[in-house]
Amino acid sequence: MADVHPTVLVVEDEPEIRRILRATLGLEGYRVVESATGRRGSIDAGTHKPDLAIVDLALPDIDGIEVIRRIREWSPMPIIVLSARVQERSKIDALDAGADDYVTKPFGVGELLARVRAALRGALRSAAGTPILRFGNAIVDLEKRVASRDGATVRLTPIEFRLLATLAKHPDMVVTHRQLLTQVWGPTHAADTHYLRIYMKQLRDKLEADPVRPRHLLTETGIGYRMVPDE
Ligand code: CA
Repeated sequence: MADVHPTVLVVEDEPEIRRILRATLGLEGYRVVESATGRRGSIDAGTHKPDLAIVDLALPDIDGIEVIRRIREWSPMPIIVLSARVQERSKIDALDAGADDYVTKPFGVGELLARVRAALRGALRSAAGTPILRFGNAIVDLEKRVASRDGATVRLTPIEFRLLATLAKHPDMVVTHRQLLTQVWGPTHAADTHYLRIYMKQLRDKLEADPVRPRHLLTETGIGYRMVPDE
């Protein structure tokens, strides 16, 4: 990951989109490996060991979801889905299969590049260990399990710490309801999304400068939540 030219694997069957990605990622200094099918992409992920993968879902052989599952069997590399499927269900399935983020086609090149940078930053940060999270004037130390805001102690419950820690494993990335519920409350609560609404509201009240317009603990409507800490 210290490589100054990170390698990005692009699994995409449409030549025109591969061309755009090759050009834009190349200009930003990334090395690009291209795979036109799902099977090829799964193999190329193993042989090229990219720093990040961009995976289309509608591929001519196996579905992109299956490609994500195959990569996740052996690698934690960031995976961004790039797909024309706009339904929430598709996004949730891709994220639950292990994707870190989701960009819908037609996409803005600027937005995609921002997601790529965020995903690579996130991978670096999680490799660096437990972070100290900064949300404006609020600070949360997950290791010491202490939090403060404007210098005053903020009391967080064990569940709130666990929720923050789970989101912090994927900073800037969307984490699905199911992922949060199973990791914080356990698999028997995978469908209890009302827990999340209650606890995320509590966290925003305690940590956000304006809980009604949160800047750091964001809702991805119908899908999950995204934590955006300050650098
Ligand atoms: Ca396609």
